[in-house]
Amino acid sequence: MYRSLFVFLLIAVSACSMDNPAEDQVVAFPQGEIVDMSYAYNDQTVYWPTAPGFDKNTDFEGFTPAGFWYTAYTVTTAEHGGTHLDAPIHFSEGKHAADEIPLERLMGPAVVVDVGEQAAADRDHLISIDDIMAHEHEHGAIAAGSILLFRTGFGQYWPDREAYMGTAERGQDAVSLLHFPGIHPEAAQWLVDNRDINAVGIDTPSIDYGQSTMFESHQILFGDNIPAFENVANLDRLPETGATVIALPMKIEGGSGGPLRMVGILPTQ
Ligand SMILES: [Zn+2]
Repeated sequence: MYRSLFVFLLIAVSACSMDNPAEDQVVAFPQGEIVDMSYAYNDQTVYWPTAPGFDKNTDFEGFTPAGFWYTAYTVTTAEHGGTHLDAPIHFSEGKHAADEIPLERLMGPAVVVDVGEQAAADRDHLISIDDIMAHEHEHGAIAAGSILLFRTGFGQYWPDREAYMGTAERGQDAVSLLHFPGIHPEAAQWLVDNRDINAVGIDTPSIDYGQSTMFESHQILFGDNIPAFENVANLDRLPETGATVIALPMKIEGGSGGPLRMVGILPTQ
């Protein structure tokens, strides 16, 4: 299956290059075990306390009068629930909407910064410049074009809303009860100023921590057109460096985000 996909990519790229010689490059599809980094959408899927949950209505399910099996459903979802994209326009006027993000930003080498210890000690942990420095000290500088993923370990609590986000309550009053780790605005600014990342991701409901009221890290990163992936699944399966990520959201025109199917491709040793 890999091989046929790889051949397909070669054909696709060479077909492009005939039209546009300047784009004459071959993109090799990485080999390796595939990790599903998206949660399924169902009635347990975690949404922000102010959003209704995922809704799947049955249009038809069963054998038709003609005798064949048939199912079809109508689904309803907020953009920001489950494993999803935050498009830059979500917190930054005039920046990319979901359908405008260049695809190059949504696939590439993954760098995983582990802050599991800090987040276990303090569920309000703000991922700091020091946390990033500690990672770089061990694994080298975050390369240009990386998809930077923060592993807090909170994925282990999914879909227990209280354990995962600090409260199982819903509605506006529940927002102040949210407790989960996120990115310190100083670290977000440092990344914008000093590194050239394509996207960020985290295994919590938001890149800003639960107690944030101004969502500064959203504002800072999105101001630089850096999109975010939230509620990322199975981050514990990825090594700190060497994996590849493909994160393709639903293409909602003008959307502020959307459901995201994300996969990791593990490095072969
Ligand atoms: Zn979001």
